[in-house]
Amino acid sequence: MASSQQRLRKAAQGGAGDGFDVVIVGAGLHGGLIALALLDADPTLRLALVERDACPAGNHTWCFHLADVPADVGAWFGRLPVSHWPGYRVAFPGFEREVGLPYGCLSSAALAAALQAAFAAHSGARLLLGCAVQALEAHAVRLSDGRQLRAALVIDARGGGTVGATGYQKFLGLEVELAADSGLDRPLLMDACLPQGPQFRFMYVLPLAPRRLLIEDTAFARTPDLDQPGRRAAIRAYADARGWRIRAVLREESGVLPMPWRAKPAAPTLPLKVGYGGGWFHPATGYSAPCALRLATVLARHWRDPLPALRTEWRRHRRQFRLGLLLNGLAFRAFRPELMWHPFARFYRLPLGTIGRFYRLQSSASDVARLLVGRPPRGFGSAWLPGRHSPEAWR
Ligand SMILES: Cc1cc2nc3c(=O)[nH]c(=O)nc-3n(C[C@H](O)[C@H](O)[C@H](O)COP(=O)(O)OP(=O)(O)OC[C@H]3O[C@@H](n4cnc5c(N)ncnc54)[C@H](O)[C@@H]3O)c2cc1C
Repeated sequence: MASSQQRLRKAAQGGAGDGFDVVIVGAGLHGGLIALALLDADPTLRLALVERDACPAGNHTWCFHLADVPADVGAWFGRLPVSHWPGYRVAFPGFEREVGLPYGCLSSAALAAALQAAFAAHSGARLLLGCAVQALEAHAVRLSDGRQLRAALVIDARGGGTVGATGYQKFLGLEVELAADSGLDRPLLMDACLPQGPQFRFMYVLPLAPRRLLIEDTAFARTPDLDQPGRRAAIRAYADARGWRIRAVLREESGVLPMPWRAKPAAPTLPLKVGYGGGWFHPATGYSAPCALRLATVLARHWRDPLPALRTEWRRHRRQFRLGLLLNGLAFRAFRPELMWHPFARFYRLPLGTIGRFYRLQSSASDVARLLVGRPPRGFGSAWLPGRHSPEAWR
């Protein structure tokens, strides 16, 4: 550990002429938030944020519970235009609940605008767009045009990442403008009152404005293929059934997230791998905003010598990550797809504190007991009944 600190200091001094203090590769959720936090903590920082695409931040809507935001987050967070609601609803056959946990979302457009403004305001900072990075080392990155950037700290925030045995969370979302007000005053996080078949399906609805909704058709399945035309049609049918007349589709987003039950992400080393690719996500919810906010806060304080603080974070994260793996294994492997909504309905009957801590990867021992002990949800073991389950059923 001492030697990595020495190497960092030496590289910082050696790179002073034409180099940077920090180079971040990838201006997605993690790279973007970390960049904002670092610039806020040290306005003189020589920071480069390198993004392959022509625009930063991609095409996402990142939601999170407001309690996921660390208490010691910097002032930068308050400047982000986050939409928020006092809670959300969930609905399952025979059970509905208003979950009073404040919830918010950050759009890619909002993060992109915040990044453009922050980089314009800091003379030592460079936002390099349309630059793919080909290779990374602890203190240097090579761009595909042959340029080399040197830095005391290189952060790899390229997303992606490989996982072991996994299921998938597949989404297609349409942001729509309605002909009349939707009547929704808060998100509908999981509406599982849909015909269930060979995959567990639910709708996720965010009321972004009285006449503007993001409706996401979501499925948990064993294969990553996403039937886009079918999902678009299902969203339109769902909107029709709710009496929401779609006047225009403003935007579409889609994605496939691994939900692993076997994975062993490595502890932090240099170059520093953050984000999805570094294992900094919640395996059972697919959210990575809680990790991104935490890492941004830690790195703003400790970027000069990040490994000790990050390894402490990592030990905590690894325990919670394992809980997520276990729950994914149970959900994907013990339940037939059409019965898989039962464990989720059981989860949303738990106390608010347990639900909130689970989302922010801070489950306590008694939360774990609440999650795992007691009468199993209906359908538990149904996937193992002889002759009642074939791999095709999971597609
Ligand atoms: C449809 C959908 C909905 C989601 N909803 C939520 C949610 O509500 N809440 C939540 O917390 N999470 C959500 N997630 C998960 C979340 O989007 C991802 O976990 C998160 O974006 C991962 O952040 P990241 O920074 O690791 O990667 P990304 O956000 O994917 O960023 C990686 C960036 O690196 C860039 N890049 C890649 N390779 C290179 C290269 N060689 N050179 C330069 N740049 C490169 C990419 O272009 C990209 O901009 C959702 C995911 C999807 C697909």
